Amino acid sequence: MAYSLSIIVPAYNETEVLERFHARLSAVLDGMATRATVIYVDDGSRDDTWAIIGRLAQADARVTGLKLSRNFGKEAAMTAGLDAADADAVVLIDADLQDPPELIPELVARLREGNDVVYATRADRAGETRLKKFTSAAFYRVMERLSDNPMPRDTGDFRVLSRRAVAALRELRERQRFMKGLFAWIGYRQVSLRYQRDPRYAGDTKWNYWRLTNLAIEGITSFSVAPLRMATWLGLSAALLAFLYGLWVILKVLLWGDPVRGYPTLMVVIVFLGGAQLLALGVIGEYVGRTYAESKRRPLYYVEERHGAAGPSPGDDPLGPGQA
Ligand code: UDP
Ligand code: MG
Repeated sequence: MAYSLSIIVPAYNETEVLERFHARLSAVLDGMATRATVIYVDDGSRDDTWAIIGRLAQADARVTGLKLSRNFGKEAAMTAGLDAADADAVVLIDADLQDPPELIPELVARLREGNDVVYATRADRAGETRLKKFTSAAFYRVMERLSDNPMPRDTGDFRVLSRRAVAALRELRERQRFMKGLFAWIGYRQVSLRYQRDPRYAGDTKWNYWRLTNLAIEGITSFSVAPLRMATWLGLSAALLAFLYGLWVILKVLLWGDPVRGYPTLMVVIVFLGGAQLLALGVIGEYVGRTYAESKRRPLYYVEERHGAAGPSPGDDPLGPGQA
């Protein structure tokens, strides 16, 4: 059987770039000998993205489209694409031309050397602010120290996966989807390919610092229990300090009697302990919330409409995605 390739493109309000993206992508695919399909996943866009996908599907037999019932976020959109894909090699790529489609042949070539995941590593982050570079570097550093299975630095979601890597990812149906962590978690043979990242071609990034911070918290808490342990240690040391301080107070009373003083120290202790407790509660709450969200076992997305031949993937388990 011929080697097959599937390209998954999550798109959320990408009217400005989608046609240009497809032009570049199809030029690349035309130059490859492999049989290719392109799956555009419209993540509940509110602009003309879905109409454009429809036009692309009509003009190009390789194109299929999925429209999710609302904006579920990029991670869910990629999952929808992975569920629909049926190919020997599956590429995940952003629609905004930040990931150059021209790199796909090289990624696939590395995959065919016997690897399961080939991820593109940015050599340079052109067009990003210094603050963004700094925060993302800090995030990776924290993740590396905390996480049980560190993920590669400066790596986006741009990568190619083998059939068994896709099958492994499909089994991970947790709601807290931190894909970069999941990619690393499945293991197998993973290699990186360095490239120069272009600035976004048009439109705005869909990430703001609020979303990025939430993603960072998700990344840390879904792959590590270190924050829980930190809270434990903080609470323990606070309690120990308070105990020693209490001993000192009693000793003072025994030696010198007790004039009515000590209001400031009392406040300090109360505030300190209150703070430590709130912190610990917050951390625990974070994990309890996660347990709650997972225990509901809701589907990760719903498909509202399809363009082209993108049918429901066979063998979806009952806990898997909802079908249209
Ligand atoms: N995206 C999505 N759903 C969202 C946000 C983004 O499908 O809720 C898609 C978006 O259309 C693009 C890719 O995810 O193809 C990356 O988004 P973006 O360029 O905004 O992120 P950045 O490159 O800044 O990380
Ligand atoms: Mg982008």
